[in-house]
Amino acid sequence: MIPFRDTYRDIPLYSPARKRCRVDLSDNTNLFGAPPSAERVLREEGLQSLARYPASYAPDLKRAVAAYAGVAVENVTTGCGSDDVIDCALRAFLEPGDAVAFPDPTFVMVPLFARLSALRPVPVPLRPDLALDVDGLLATGAKLLYVCTPNNPTGTVASRAALERLVDRAPGVVVIDQAYVEFTRGGDFLDLARTRPNVLVTRTMSKAFGLAGLRVGWGVGAPSLVAEVEKARGPYKHTALGEAVAVSALTEDTAWMEACAAEAVENRERLRGGLRVLGLEPLPSEANFLLVPVPEARRVGEAMRERNVNVRVFEGLAGVGDALRIGSAPWPLMATALKALQEAL
Ligand code: PMP
Repeated sequence: MIPFRDTYRDIPLYSPARKRCRVDLSDNTNLFGAPPSAERVLREEGLQSLARYPASYAPDLKRAVAAYAGVAVENVTTGCGSDDVIDCALRAFLEPGDAVAFPDPTFVMVPLFARLSALRPVPVPLRPDLALDVDGLLATGAKLLYVCTPNNPTGTVASRAALERLVDRAPGVVVIDQAYVEFTRGGDFLDLARTRPNVLVTRTMSKAFGLAGLRVGWGVGAPSLVAEVEKARGPYKHTALGEAVAVSALTEDTAWMEACAAEAVENRERLRGGLRVLGLEPLPSEANFLLVPVPEARRVGEAMRERNVNVRVFEGLAGVGDALRIGSAPWPLMATALKALQEAL
């Protein structure tokens, strides 16, 4: 008998429905494409980067992130997607058995990462108006609090006052996941990572920057926090190619990224109008997706997949119920999705 870990016995693989569909609006990536400089970097550095290891601890990427975020290199950590930065933070700051508290609903990987590291996930329901329950989060006493803003899957944002109160009273580290910050109006909390000793803001190249396939994420925090996350991650989590393309995107393609994000926001609101015509009322969103409560979401999502459109299905979300999460994209894709939804309802 192989002595498998008890901790892992009941933990499933992460498996969103990924039946291939012609229109896939299920993962909130940039469906306007990849950053323009990527093609040149792939051509110039693609093959020659393959045979040797990348530089350890991603120094070029850290320099590019530092310049982009307006911080020092010592404030930057990176990872194989921001998934990895969050996972490393859990392992860096908590011992097995410790609690990690987070609002419910939020990013599904967080409780999963917690369980994989033998931590105790402690969900704290969002308030009925979908605001953070700051006192509820603090009352858990957890040494690591995770907050996602804009939040996946709701799309809603945390208020500055609530977040500042949370950060200033937290007994330990607060991870603020800003995977969708490029789509917000004024919802950027990098300043808290610069000014507070206990805040790690995580960001990704997978959404607005159009590089989900390369798996690059980063975090900003005080140098002493960042040093611990670096230990937890280890030296070689990036590919040389991923690092090179992320560097060029951060230095050359920010205007392109902003244009994509602006169009995603515009189309998101156009989608809201279309959903209202169908009698549906999506939640307010500052991300590149809408969460729309839909009875029997599983059946409706399946019927949409039969029409070659994939959206993310949620069943029984706390405070919301059944819902579909629909990513924003070039309008023809959204029009196809709306038609499929109308037929599926
Ligand atoms: N945070 C949130 C809120 C997300 O939705 C995602 C991706 N679905 C991630 C983090 C992770 O993204 P990545 O690992 O690609 O950076």
